[in-house]
Amino acid sequence: MVHENSPAIQSVVIMGGGAAGWLTAAILASSAAVKARNVKITLIESPDVGILGVGEGTWPTMRDTLRKIGLDEATVIRQCDASFKQGTCFNQWHHTGTDDTYYHPFELPAGMFDTDPMAWWAAHRSNSSFAELFTAHPQLSQAAKAPKQPQTPDYAAVANYGYHLDAHKFANLLKQHCQQYLGVQLISMHVTDIISNESGDIHSLANEAQTVPGDLFVDCSGFSAQLIGQHYQISLQDQASVLPNDSALAIQARYVSNETPIASNTHSTAHANGWLWDIALPHRKGVGCVYSSQYCDEATARATLLDYLERDTTTAPVDEADIRKLSFTPGYRKTPWVKNCIAIGGSAGFLEPLEASALVMIELAASKLAAQLPACRNNLAPLARQYNQSMVAKWQRIVDFLKLHYVLSDRRDSAYWRAVSNTSSASEQLNDWLCLWQHRTPNLHDFCYQDEIFPLASYWFILCGMNFVPQSPGNPDEQAQTWVQKNRQRSRQLLAGLPGNRQLIEHIIKQNNQG
Ligand SMILES: Cc1cc2nc3c(=O)[nH]c(=O)nc-3n(C[C@H](O)[C@H](O)[C@H](O)COP(=O)(O)OP(=O)(O)OC[C@H]3O[C@@H](n4cnc5c(N)ncnc54)[C@H](O)[C@@H]3O)c2cc1C
Repeated sequence: MVHENSPAIQSVVIMGGGAAGWLTAAILASSAAVKARNVKITLIESPDVGILGVGEGTWPTMRDTLRKIGLDEATVIRQCDASFKQGTCFNQWHHTGTDDTYYHPFELPAGMFDTDPMAWWAAHRSNSSFAELFTAHPQLSQAAKAPKQPQTPDYAAVANYGYHLDAHKFANLLKQHCQQYLGVQLISMHVTDIISNESGDIHSLANEAQTVPGDLFVDCSGFSAQLIGQHYQISLQDQASVLPNDSALAIQARYVSNETPIASNTHSTAHANGWLWDIALPHRKGVGCVYSSQYCDEATARATLLDYLERDTTTAPVDEADIRKLSFTPGYRKTPWVKNCIAIGGSAGFLEPLEASALVMIELAASKLAAQLPACRNNLAPLARQYNQSMVAKWQRIVDFLKLHYVLSDRRDSAYWRAVSNTSSASEQLNDWLCLWQHRTPNLHDFCYQDEIFPLASYWFILCGMNFVPQSPGNPDEQAQTWVQKNRQRSRQLLAGLPGNRQLIEHIIKQNNQG
């Protein structure tokens, strides 16, 4: 049925100028479909409310996003103090021993479409880890190697990678780029009034000085969720009973020397009441202690963070006064799209920093919106139903994947670990998988969505890393052995041929300054 009289969607107003707002603006404004329709994109940011500014780890998807919005990679590296992230290294998640380390690389295991690498690992259980047998990642990480060579083109990879970056600088670069090259209009204004029309759609955002009308509104106002939460009263589906972390203490730490190697991984180290992140940028590190206020007070978390920093030989002493406290409610909104309003970023939900899934959800949501931007008002409700269904499925999968990290742990050294590792708080889906995977390895048929947010390989890396061995993994075919050998050879070649992270970053910055 064609709705000839339904008003067209010609203008999008984004409320919020953090990573969510500017990424959404950039993705929409650079989309061919949106450009072809000449849709006007306006972004409102408050001069009184700052941005969260702590999302420092991205996924490899960010390379494609940045390329599509028209930024060159050297500019990103230079202006965002960015480095290359090739995965995550988990320490002391399985048990408290200092030898407990495993990797979740961005690389896929060698031969995964040809054989069952996890079955081979389970059958052989050699001295090498799963990640080491089937990827080059652990070796590249231990040598702090870059994922490419100086001559590799922008955004292309030899080993898969995303970024570690300074979140404030990233938002600023996007802001500058959106205004200068993508035609996004910026309005600096603190919104106090949300004006609706009779149908319940938002008509405009206003304060005493000005009114900004629009056809479609994107709520990127962060955790305060001004439109979706406060105006439409859509509550957060609280996930604290599954993932109890709700607080973080973050600090930036300088290196002891400007020659300190830049790590290729986010380091994630479990502690008695949560875990610590350690992210290496070219000029400093970002370190944070994530914890649950149900189990741990701020003073204990602070002591844990300072103790970690004191043991870290790569960073200079920090000033305790620079520690920043962040609080959040782990959860997501079941209907992020209501009427003519879509929540993206912190307003739509946030679970916890583990596996850095927030920025990728922003990329995904904004790309979905760009590809499906409603033509007219009559398209809003059908699209909202479709969008909400798909986003809720993604949130649930992220909850399951994050919970997997906890339920596989053997740590029982605190009330926190005894509670968080208990499968009674895991979803039926995760419990079903764990039941099935006791007897066989996970395979593609376990996952029903075409674009799973965490692919099968990610499950293998966590399961094997946490030493989860199916009772009868099946007979691995001969192919797997061949892939182990091929991977060994490739790892040797990459180790010899790739420069160090710092070396490549300094080369890129130097070239860019000369250019
Ligand atoms: C401890 C921690 C660690 C994290 N680590 C990672 C990570 O490693 N990787 C990752 O992907 N993500 C991470 N995240 C999540 C990431 O930080 C957020 O997803 C990201 O910052 C997006 O925030 P935002 O743009 O939604 O909100 P914000 O940055 O809070 O921006 C909100 C915007 O809304 C505007 N605003 C608010 N009220 C009004 C008003 N009344 N009028 C006008 N404007 C208004 C503000 O001015 C601001 O511009 C982390 C989060 C936390 C808490």
